[in-house]
Amino acid sequence: MDKAQRFIFDNTDVRGELVQLDKSYQQILAANQYPTIVANLLGEFLVASVLLSSTIKFAGRLTLQARSQGQISLLMAESTHQQHIRGIARVADEITTDNFLELFDNGSLAVTIEPDKGERYQSIVPFSGTSLASCLEHYFQQSEQLNTLIKLSANAEYASGMLVQQLPEQRVVDQEQRKQQWQHIVILGQTLKNTELLSLENHQLLSRLYPHDAVRLLSHQSVSFQCSCSFERSGRALMLLEAEELQSLFDTTELVQTQCEFCGKTYKFSQASLTKLLHGKHKTH
Ligand SMILES: [Zn+2]
Repeated sequence: MDKAQRFIFDNTDVRGELVQLDKSYQQILAANQYPTIVANLLGEFLVASVLLSSTIKFAGRLTLQARSQGQISLLMAESTHQQHIRGIARVADEITTDNFLELFDNGSLAVTIEPDKGERYQSIVPFSGTSLASCLEHYFQQSEQLNTLIKLSANAEYASGMLVQQLPEQRVVDQEQRKQQWQHIVILGQTLKNTELLSLENHQLLSRLYPHDAVRLLSHQSVSFQCSCSFERSGRALMLLEAEELQSLFDTTELVQTQCEFCGKTYKFSQASLTKLLHGKHKTH
């Protein structure tokens, strides 16, 4: 089942989130052919985008995007506040390494939040450590000053993740107590194995990790693959071409076809429908 589920530790400021992707992940993988390691990383990115979007209250979408000069030139995943996800990777013809930092050689990782209303904002996360999880832990520590533990794992069928985070003082103000609580939770959390993350039900997973703690699972939300492409959006992308280039396309064919990289859907434009879109756009300004 594709879901995101929050959990809380009683009498602490620590909260967590568990995400499992099943069908949505398979649908996304089906749209393109990826080498195994790329597919697994895409799974981790997708899970991470849901985990990150669950940490903020907003209406809009969160995008996690890596660009590099390594063998994975682009890897991106996005999640809306309704947990509609999509993702894509662009990779070299041949993948010859499984080293995380080499795959994303000379790369950067950006977290972008685009609220439905208001300004988008972006944080750049340095590539560090040996995994996406460690980059994101670092990001939370640096930019939000929040202690965070992230576990991500994916195989050919499933992608799962866990985020545990200590929020600023609310219930517990004693610094020593906060520190102890966090250390206790993080030490146990770090023992979570990939196989457990990918196979256990949430309640099993938590009772195995935290048998002596008062952990409560809250209600879950479903996650689904849903592409945000549209006739209008792909038309606008076409119009970014140089006028001459666009004209030469229409010189060879009556209908210019575009295909969405995320879902494979095709859109066809005649010169007239594109002009109409262009004018429609102008009117709204
Ligand atoms: Zn699409």
